[in-house]
Amino acid sequence: MKNKKNIEDTSGFDNIVSLTKRRGFIFASSEIYDGLAAVYDLGPYGVELANNIKKEWWRVMTQLRDDIVGLDAAIFMSPKVWEASGHVKGFSDPLTECRKCHSRLRLDTLLEEAGVFADEKMSEEEINEIFSKNKEKVVCPICGATDFTPAKNFNLLVQSNLGNFTGDWQKEPVYLRGETCQGIYVNFKNVVDTTRVKIPFGIAQIGKAFRNEITARQFIFRTREFEQMEMQYFVKPGDDKKYFDFWREARFQFYLDLGIKSENLRWHEHENLVFYAQAAFDIEYNYPFGFKELEGIHARGDYDLSVHAQASKHDLSFFDSQTQERFLPHVVETSAGVGRTMLAVICDAYKEEEINGEKRIVLSLAPKLAPIKIAIFPLLKNKPELVNKAREIFNSLKLDWRCEFDDNGNIGKRYRRQDEIGTPFCLTVDFDSLDNDDVTIRFRDSMEQKRIPLRELKNFFQNNI
Ligand code: ATP
Repeated sequence: MKNKKNIEDTSGFDNIVSLTKRRGFIFASSEIYDGLAAVYDLGPYGVELANNIKKEWWRVMTQLRDDIVGLDAAIFMSPKVWEASGHVKGFSDPLTECRKCHSRLRLDTLLEEAGVFADEKMSEEEINEIFSKNKEKVVCPICGATDFTPAKNFNLLVQSNLGNFTGDWQKEPVYLRGETCQGIYVNFKNVVDTTRVKIPFGIAQIGKAFRNEITARQFIFRTREFEQMEMQYFVKPGDDKKYFDFWREARFQFYLDLGIKSENLRWHEHENLVFYAQAAFDIEYNYPFGFKELEGIHARGDYDLSVHAQASKHDLSFFDSQTQERFLPHVVETSAGVGRTMLAVICDAYKEEEINGEKRIVLSLAPKLAPIKIAIFPLLKNKPELVNKAREIFNSLKLDWRCEFDDNGNIGKRYRRQDEIGTPFCLTVDFDSLDNDDVTIRFRDSMEQKRIPLRELKNFFQNNI
């Protein structure tokens, strides 16, 4: 290939963010009204990428297994769920305010950035004590000042006035769910009673969650409305460790199978566990702003089922008919974010290259994740015989793959556009195609071109996507 070289250190985060906007992956929510902080919309290619990530997760977590079933619980749940789960009292982050610029910030994050150990599970007293000992190290990322108010716990649940027509909804709020897994716990008995599941088994769910996050930085990494892919695996007490280790390995492999480079993934073990947890590990991805949580894997014991059993007065134990034992299952949870996975695969796939003195931007996405699998071009727009043949091929391939037809501009420009949205294959119909019944396939990463007979096209794509 001609004179192709990688440009070092130009793939900064700003360039990646700019590509996602320019090419229709991610837009600020309500942008024509100046946006809404920490809320984003998915554009035409973003929704395809997100759907492909979710499809792959669902395939691996349900279709390929005989011990996991799916669920789609509602976003609104009884407020009693969030009281029993501990979210109303304890789902909070330590909020501090910069006395100079009045930015509201998370103190645990500021301390961590200053190299001081802290996390959001610490009590107000604990974290303020650490803060007072390290005051001079904590710097406002917005204005550089070092003068902050003491931290207060700020609850992250988002309230709604659903159904409360006459009362004071702030006193009796219904919440938008703060995590999807509560829908799984409260449906545990329904699933056991209506399907043939036997312990150990899992329930998987993909859906929206909402959190009043204090800091709205880092693009789609931390948003106030986001999608989770969560699976709760119910095991016999004592089997926790075995399945925790299994799921740690399986979930790490998932990201490698999405094509993410292994050197950009690592484990982080939580040292400060909540009282009921037996173990908690995060899979972290090396985002342009550092290694940060992509997915959490948690051994949660019987905490969730026992609090809901107690508060609802329903027996949530499981009877094992083989061993004639009755027990409250323990939970191993895997909890991932769609947005964070999307951002990780985009950052990992983003490349800038120089080709004959010109910059080329490429998203080297795994073909299974690429929003468009095949772009189909007639060489010239004003030659009906080429356009008709290309349309015919588009109409045939679209039955199996997400394709795009494009007859606008010169071929070089059409290639660049597809490179930037990560399309692995471009197919061109030229004059030789009319005589020989073949087309040119151009490969995104190597830019090599190959002629392929029409009758072999479907086979070719079946083997390569
Ligand atoms: P963090 O410490 O970064 O706030 P968390 O520990 O609160 O994350 P969990 O409650 O374990 O996150 O949620 C599980 C997953 O959901 C996370 O690993 C992440 O992928 C995703 N997630 C959580 N909060 C957000 C958010 N505000 N925006 C986007 N994704 C999120």
